[in-house]
Amino acid sequence: MDDLGIIPMRATLDNKVRTARMIAPSGKSFTLDARPQQVIVLDRREFDKQIAHQAKVNGAEIRVRSSLREITKDGVKTSDGDIKCKIIVDARGVSSLIHKDRTGTLQSAQYEVYADWIDKEQVEVYLDQEKYPGFFAWIIPTRRDEAKVGVAGKGINPALVLEDFLKQKGNYSTVRKIFAPIWVKGPIKEFVTRNIVTVGDAAGQAKPTTAGGIYSSGLGGILAGNAISKFLESGKKEELQKYQKEWSEKFGKEFEQMLLARSLLERLDNKSINGLFESITPQVLEEISKEGSFDFHTVSVAKLLGVKGSVKAIQAILGNELRRLLS
Ligand SMILES: Cc1cc2nc3c(=O)[nH]c(=O)nc-3n(C[C@H](O)[C@H](O)[C@H](O)COP(=O)(O)OP(=O)(O)OC[C@H]3O[C@@H](n4cnc5c(N)ncnc54)[C@H](O)[C@@H]3O)c2cc1C
Repeated sequence: MDDLGIIPMRATLDNKVRTARMIAPSGKSFTLDARPQQVIVLDRREFDKQIAHQAKVNGAEIRVRSSLREITKDGVKTSDGDIKCKIIVDARGVSSLIHKDRTGTLQSAQYEVYADWIDKEQVEVYLDQEKYPGFFAWIIPTRRDEAKVGVAGKGINPALVLEDFLKQKGNYSTVRKIFAPIWVKGPIKEFVTRNIVTVGDAAGQAKPTTAGGIYSSGLGGILAGNAISKFLESGKKEELQKYQKEWSEKFGKEFEQMLLARSLLERLDNKSINGLFESITPQVLEEISKEGSFDFHTVSVAKLLGVKGSVKAIQAILGNELRRLLS
């Protein structure tokens, strides 16, 4: 939040997370101490409003229900009239990418639910390659007896899968439903083309492992903004290109590793995941809790996949690639 220049207001902060429990298809689980990572749960609607307010105070003009229709020679056509501009920032989220490439998206559903089986201080992640291929189900507590519960996966009907998941958990009431695609294929090739600067999910800046993008997409926005203002002051095109260079210096390697981790994890079947959970030791968990980073987490993934004595089958399937990730 500091990096993003945001001092969250009280209304924006929902909850603080103490532990994260990972659950295998067999039901076996392990719990990580999340306190060193300082993980908080945000109220996303309040968060977006706070950012909008900060932008307004700094001179932005905000319009709602105003859609981009067409990019023209000297600006854009919107549903709300034409706007002249030198630079266009494409920040349309995943919707901007879907037209270009469908292969990097997964369907997701997330419900806000009230239920008494929610642990207020614990995030839960359920792995199951048959129910949520290539992804997982999650429970993120927001308050006592309140959570965001979601699923995503390749080729699934997320509403049906999520409702099955919730039924198995017990009694609940849904108060809000969100259905949205998530992007897990990493950054697009060019963030800047002509006078169009692409940022955030539209530029593929969400993490390929979890599709979390508030941090990495948010920083993309900041770096792009800085580059654009330098360009407008100096008129030098190369100032715009610095944005991609700076984002890649910060996230490029980690995102490549995440993509590698994703391609490894996608190939594990439930049997291998169950086996892996059997071989995780308390020492590995302690190391990950202490050293892991929420936004740069491939070292933790590699540690989990490479645990000593972990299932031979996994080592055989993943072989060289796992060694690359471990190194
Ligand atoms: C279910 C779910 C759960 C998530 N959970 C997390 C999480 O826990 N942590 C995390 O870090 N990330 C999470 N993410 C990802 C996170 O929401 C995104 O990475 C982040 O919102 C990207 O910000 P953005 O500004 O690039 O795009 P968005 O937040 O998607 O904003 C894009 C905006 O562009 C607007 N728009 C689209 N088309 C047009 C158009 N033609 N004209 C004008 N405007 C347009 C949209 O209305 C929208 O307001 C989650 C995503 C989903 C779907």
